[in-house]
Amino acid sequence: MKRVVSGIKPSGDLTIGNYLGAMKRWVEHQHQPDYENFFFVANLHAITVKQDPEKLKKRTFDVVAWLLTIGVDPNKSVIFIQSMIPAHSEICWILNNYVTMGELTKMTQFKDKSLKAGKEGQLVGLYDYPVLMAGDVLLYDADEIPVGLDQAQHVELSRTIAQRFNNIHGETFKIPKATMSKTTAKIMSLNDSEKKMSKSDSEDSYIGLDDAPESIIKKFKRAVTDSGSNVEFKKDKPAMSNLLIIYSEFTDKPIEEIEKEYEGKGYGQFKKDLGEIVAEKLSNLQKTFLQIRVQEERLNNIIAEGNSNAVIIAKEKINVIKDKLGLI
Ligand code: ADP
Repeated sequence: MKRVVSGIKPSGDLTIGNYLGAMKRWVEHQHQPDYENFFFVANLHAITVKQDPEKLKKRTFDVVAWLLTIGVDPNKSVIFIQSMIPAHSEICWILNNYVTMGELTKMTQFKDKSLKAGKEGQLVGLYDYPVLMAGDVLLYDADEIPVGLDQAQHVELSRTIAQRFNNIHGETFKIPKATMSKTTAKIMSLNDSEKKMSKSDSEDSYIGLDDAPESIIKKFKRAVTDSGSNVEFKKDKPAMSNLLIIYSEFTDKPIEEIEKEYEGKGYGQFKKDLGEIVAEKLSNLQKTFLQIRVQEERLNNIIAEGNSNAVIIAKEKINVIKDKLGLI
């Protein structure tokens, strides 16, 4: 039996980057036999950037409802809330003593995010984020962590921390491995094909799962393109390649087939069609989301059940760790 663990922050509108890079992959994992899946709402990670408490609470439930909407099945996967399992905070403090400031300073996400946040936003929590993340996966002896490319460096650090701890205290943690989709590990921004699409950037740079159809169509129409006019998946056409990946994911058509379909048609037609396809798919998902989101009792029950499964494993692991360290 292999274990899969992954999380998502309730810190803003979920984007099609989150969906294609992570959430959709989680659903695919459910079809693999001999896998136990643990998916969580990473609300402790969300507070590394200022959050409005009411919005944070609401978005936590939104994320759970979105997971159910896209097909994460609570009978096949454990869905839980990070802050409700105290072992996550506990392990973070302990692992802080197995990682150096030099290692954390090298994390590119910290560099990017702290640059954006300015001096006042350079919080210790933001700096420490990768250690909490290491704890999130090591607690559960995760084998695989399905994530987007932006998290690869953090998973690598989790491996380093686990190995270091094991070397000092004997076999304690499994060494996890990041698993990434070949095509969707880095969905790029719609207005800058060198930057990943992110919910913390300007609204016209991403497609939110909640976006209205007109807005989706408009955003794709305005999306940056490359020089030339042929719809092609090529290294020197990063913007087009990104849009082709999105098209392919939303239609289940191979990229070559889409390229053929658009031979001689130009960028304009392609972007118009892409907007309509994504708008239709998302508006259907939004209808399902709204039906699920109002079922507060069901959501609470799913969370309670998930938490109760997660806490058993997490607590057992934290006790083993404390024992090894002489913490009574
Ligand atoms: P964000 O970066 O949008 O704030 P999170 O940190 O909550 O998102 O990430 C949740 C998951 O979504 C992670 O596995 C992350 O790697 C993945 N992800 C985020 N943005 C993208 C993207 N543009 N392309 C592919 N995967 C992404």
